Amino acid sequence: MTNKHSVLIIGGGVAGLQATLDLARVGFNVYLVEVKPRIGGHASLLHRTFPTLENGEELTKKLFQNVIKHSNAKILPYSEIEKVEGSIGDFKVKVLKKARYVDEEKCTACGECEKVCPVTVPKDYEMGIGFRKAAYLPSPHPVPPKHLIDPQHCLYFKDGSCHACRDVCPENAVVFEQKTEEEILDVDVIIVATGFKPYDVTKESQYKHGAYRNVITGIEYERLCNPNGPTGGKIVRIDNKEKPSSVGYILCVGSRDEQNHGYCCRVGCINALKHAYLLKKQYGSEVEAYICYIDMRTIGKKAEKFYRNIRESGVNFIHGEPSEIRELPDGSLTIDVYDQATSKLLSITTDLIVLEAELEPEVDLQEKLKIPLNDDGFFKEVHPQLAANETPIQGIFLAGAVQEPMNIAEALVRASAAATRAFISIQ
Ligand SMILES: Cc1cc2nc3c(=O)[nH]c(=O)nc-3n(C[C@H](O)[C@H](O)[C@H](O)COP(=O)(O)OP(=O)(O)OC[C@H]3O[C@@H](n4cnc5c(N)ncnc54)[C@H](O)[C@@H]3O)c2cc1C
Ligand code: SF4
Ligand code: SF4
Repeated sequence: MTNKHSVLIIGGGVAGLQATLDLARVGFNVYLVEVKPRIGGHASLLHRTFPTLENGEELTKKLFQNVIKHSNAKILPYSEIEKVEGSIGDFKVKVLKKARYVDEEKCTACGECEKVCPVTVPKDYEMGIGFRKAAYLPSPHPVPPKHLIDPQHCLYFKDGSCHACRDVCPENAVVFEQKTEEEILDVDVIIVATGFKPYDVTKESQYKHGAYRNVITGIEYERLCNPNGPTGGKIVRIDNKEKPSSVGYILCVGSRDEQNHGYCCRVGCINALKHAYLLKKQYGSEVEAYICYIDMRTIGKKAEKFYRNIRESGVNFIHGEPSEIRELPDGSLTIDVYDQATSKLLSITTDLIVLEAELEPEVDLQEKLKIPLNDDGFFKEVHPQLAANETPIQGIFLAGAVQEPMNIAEALVRASAAATRAFISIQ
């Protein structure tokens, strides 16, 4: 790459992709480093996104396709930031490109390796009902569309007892000898777009996630609704994979509670509305939906209309925080909740309960970047209004949900704002 200025974007979710696109378009050399083997972040796991119900996978794919058109952008998937030194105008960043054990240039994603692989591993967020092989594609339509081998579970790395994928690969793309590669990037500025990680809902022991099979999180429910998910898009009870007769949604799990996180996750309420909408779309009046909320916070374009439509669609709204979840002998679940709207204590039995959980910032690079954290654990900005994208370290900027919880539209706008600040800072 030969242009004058260069930037490192850390995190390949929608925010990182948008910042990459903006700065590549104005002639920066852009390096986009993503720790996972697939680009797109959380938005690429979502089949339907509020408020327009657009397909999240398609949306991230469009962004990615625009990015790869630019010769100024270099994408480094499955790579880790090892060390950051220097200052604005002269950062030196050591990046480790992890071994995929598959030659990316040669792999055509034909899937032959996957077919013969004898090892099966549960997939992330798929509730122990979705599986992948040790030779696998990181998602059904990943970008980039390349396979990789998981050395933690692969038998070749365990005891040398298998090399079936190497034998079958028509492109000779399987390379067990591949090593982690090191690259030093010289960049003028850095944009951190590492997004969020889901709150560990087992901390809310009253809700029994992990103990009761039919208690799942919002992200897990997204996988149930997704035609590429473990049930082909059917919303079912997890234990018997049958149609539920009712589903409960509990809001603010881990949020707005001084003992955990005092802040609002900002997407949980509207997400629960979307989740109930998708349930009703699938089963209509055959299935009851109960949303237990503290306050209904639906902010943003078209959000109020979306809320009103769902309210009128037969979904039950209960203004209260439920007690603990109790499991009945047949695996269904009971909660007691005092409904402030009707002043009644209700006892509700459902087949599936969805915990709409807090979003925590992904700040694992804090020590390497030396950016202080604020009271809520997010990277500290210079000023919450006047310089929300700037960190106290000159030349390091923030974009997307790593700043605070936000939806996709906001993450895209914040990314463009970060790109603008980064651009101006070195003119
Ligand atoms: C259950 C659920 C449903 C949602 N539904 C909707 C919806 O319908 N509509 C909507 O608008 N919003 C929705 N959201 C919010 C949406 O997911 C976020 O707005 C969006 O993902 C934010 O994008 P981001 O790029 O900032 O962060 P992320 O999507 O979190 O992406 C961050 C990226 O950075 C990478 N990364 C992390 N650490 C590192 C590191 N150290 N080095 C390199 N890379 C790193 C991650 O792997 C990831 O790819 C939902 C959220 C949840 C939890
Ligand atoms: S068999 Fe070879 S070319 Fe086909 S997906 Fe596997 S590694 Fe890629
Ligand atoms: S060598 Fe590993 S990845 Fe390849 S088929 Fe065997 S177990 Fe699967």
